[in-house]
Amino acid sequence: MAYDVNNVFAKILRGEMPAERVYEDDHVLAIKDIHPKAPTHVLVLPKGPYTSLMDFSIRATVEEMGYFFQTITKIAERLGLNDKGFRLVSNIGADAGQIVPHFHVHLLGGKQLGSMAGDSDS
Ligand code: 5GP
Repeated sequence: MAYDVNNVFAKILRGEMPAERVYEDDHVLAIKDIHPKAPTHVLVLPKGPYTSLMDFSIRATVEEMGYFFQTITKIAERLGLNDKGFRLVSNIGADAGQIVPHFHVHLLGGKQLGSMAGDSDS
């Protein structure tokens, strides 16, 4: 899938759309989800044009990937989630319900999150 430069996260990264930013550096942006599913629901995205985790794992350097995931844990710590725990989710493609085609990881916490895989049993 080619990267769509007009997806909402690309617009947020360019400052063309507002977002509640909770962390930003040269390579990573974290924003609050507009439809939070938990008391803490943050979306962490690399600034590079990657469509999904799969695209990121294929095209990013090992350094970029390491930095990205280390930054996620730093953000979780800053948000005070380390003691009680948190969940990371990344939707890839249609069956997973990926809406925004810019790679992002959902960071969820602040309550007991229940079972892992969602509501569907099959
Ligand atoms: P996906 O299903 O692609 O993993 O999830 C995309 C997430 O982005 C959804 O949880 C949705 O609520 C969130 N989202 C969609 N549009 C916007 C937006 O314009 N701003 C923010 N902050 N979050 C958004």
